[in-house]
Amino acid sequence: MISVTDLKNYVFCPYSLYIRKVLNIGERVTEYMLYGREVEKERIVAFLFRALNGEKLLKNLHMVSRRLGLSGTVEYVIVDKYGYYIPIDIKWTEATRPRRDHVVQVCAYALLIEETGLGKVKQCCLYYVSRNEGHLFRITYSYSMRRLVLKILEEVKNMLKTAVPPRHVPDRRQCSSCPLALQCPYRSY
Ligand code: SF4
Repeated sequence: MISVTDLKNYVFCPYSLYIRKVLNIGERVTEYMLYGREVEKERIVAFLFRALNGEKLLKNLHMVSRRLGLSGTVEYVIVDKYGYYIPIDIKWTEATRPRRDHVVQVCAYALLIEETGLGKVKQCCLYYVSRNEGHLFRITYSYSMRRLVLKILEEVKNMLKTAVPPRHVPDRRQCSSCPLALQCPYRSY
């Protein structure tokens, strides 16, 4: 079973998934970091609920599609006043535009929401937090976005099945911000 996080890591850098899942190397995250972010997330979600005309808030929604071989747990889903489901992802990043790996991640949640029959999705949201600022990005969940997620899912399945290292040229700037940089044998210096 492939997870949505696997898809996100693969889109960030295929080696990032390869070394985690095939070479079994992972980064460390402290409990302190996790706790601080959880507290802040609750405040952000309350703001998003109002901004998106929320009627209902779902938390930690775990979804599995055996047909697709895909699973994932989305932390927050807002159901708006029209009954549409909006998966939300909050990220701590200095990025000023939606990152492709984040877009694929949140759209993969949308795919699972529809695939498991929970509801219909028209948009997904990314909320970026940097220093004292926050930026909301609305991503249209279109047919082409759905197809992109399915295509990436197939690529990931193929890579994990064959265990062949991906063909990819690492990007030095990306490597410098990668949590696996210290352990990664493919890192670009
Ligand atoms: S250090 Fe660079 S090559 Fe290695 S996983 Fe991270 S981004 Fe990819």
